[in-house]
Amino acid sequence: MNVVEEIKNKKIIHWFRNDQRVSDHEIISVHHTLKSIRCFYLMDAKWSENHQLGFPLIGEKRKQFIQESIQELKNDLEKLGIDLTIIHNSSELKELQVDDDEILTYQKLFGTEEIKIEQTILSSFANSIAIDNFTLTDNLTLPFELDKTPNVFSSFRKKVEKYGSFQNPITLPDIPEVSQPYVMSGGEQHAIHRLKYYFYEQKLLSIYKETRNGMLGTDFSSRFSPWLSNGNISARTIYAFIKDYEEKFESNSSTYWLIFELLWRDFFQFQLRKYGSLFFQKNGINGKSIAYRNHEDTFWNWANGTTGDDLVDANMIELKTTGWMSNRGRQNVASYLVHDLNINWRWGAAWMESQLIDYDPASNWGNWMYIAGVGNDPRPFRKFNTKGQAERYDSEGNYRNKWLK
Ligand SMILES: Cc1cc2nc3c(=O)[nH]c(=O)nc-3n(C[C@H](O)[C@H](O)[C@H](O)COP(=O)(O)OP(=O)(O)OC[C@H]3O[C@@H](n4cnc5c(N)ncnc54)[C@H](O)[C@@H]3O)c2cc1C
Repeated sequence: MNVVEEIKNKKIIHWFRNDQRVSDHEIISVHHTLKSIRCFYLMDAKWSENHQLGFPLIGEKRKQFIQESIQELKNDLEKLGIDLTIIHNSSELKELQVDDDEILTYQKLFGTEEIKIEQTILSSFANSIAIDNFTLTDNLTLPFELDKTPNVFSSFRKKVEKYGSFQNPITLPDIPEVSQPYVMSGGEQHAIHRLKYYFYEQKLLSIYKETRNGMLGTDFSSRFSPWLSNGNISARTIYAFIKDYEEKFESNSSTYWLIFELLWRDFFQFQLRKYGSLFFQKNGINGKSIAYRNHEDTFWNWANGTTGDDLVDANMIELKTTGWMSNRGRQNVASYLVHDLNINWRWGAAWMESQLIDYDPASNWGNWMYIAGVGNDPRPFRKFNTKGQAERYDSEGNYRNKWLK
């Protein structure tokens, strides 16, 4: 039985996690078929905790994005007559006075902390249904057993691309008529506006493959990541819009490349499912021990953008100021911390976890492991020459000048 049939005429209590939207949502889309529905969102337990180095586990920019997203979700649900309660601790669940016949529905997540909180929440419910909707492809139609997930991206991509369920058409959410400026704020409406701007107004999707390695400005890549991480837009909705764009305008290597990058995202998500807690351990998923220093001053020079390497510093200042950094920047600063400064890669990953508004456990820790040489990279490790990279990707120095002035 599919979820829609299973929940028909039932009393549902939906736990929102990183599925903070009303479009393309298994439960909300069929709310009118339910006997009753109410929802809750549980604030992250890390909200007011600090890392051992003293920085907040969730930085201000990320907090703000999450709050905006939850506020918009609450408003959108209200318009549908659905109540969203925000709770700060799992013990507050008692106040919701759950009935025995209420079924908990929730998004399945695979980080170790996410699994732990899931176990706590499940203990308050007699019946529950988990939904697997964070990725493009889903576990049920994965063309291999989870433990056989290829460890190399290209093998994963080729298999998933051929058989993935995401190729089944879905209904596209409406694109609003009114053109809103692009604002990097949390919530479904901002995600859709960005997509409208990037695809349909500016046609930037047609040149994405040529521009995606940029650093300066906001238009060289899609910037969908913060909304994807919070689930303000689903990966399969973006996929469906790419197909729509290809049909209406053009299909070229750039339009394909955005799908290719969404598959990188899936790749790390499925690696996390496969390897679980190894993702967060110092020897990573391949068990390789790398020597590093726990030197705090050196770490802080990196985090504050005062290393003396202008490409690294500019990127770290951008991160601190905006909560975002390009993929090119992330690769360079991660490589620099691990391979030039020889600092603990997990400190770097934790800093990005704190600062990035698009933080996602699988993408962040998976990419860090990859660069540190304890992850999925078929090469022993990935060291970037930051001077050469600056010459290649910022030859005029405009990016560095913007952030170092
Ligand atoms: C050290 C390091 C840490 C990172 N941490 C995160 C993180 O916490 N959250 C996060 O979403 N991404 C992370 N990334 C991946 C990537 O840098 C960002 O997804 C991307 O820069 C976001 O910008 P965009 O949306 O404009 O990307 P685009 O180039 O427009 O790509 C579209 C989408 O594809 C996905 N994608 C692209 N590249 C990757 C990649 N290498 N790995 C996984 N997914 C990818 C993202 O969902 C992205 O939104 C990290 C990369 C590195 C090297």
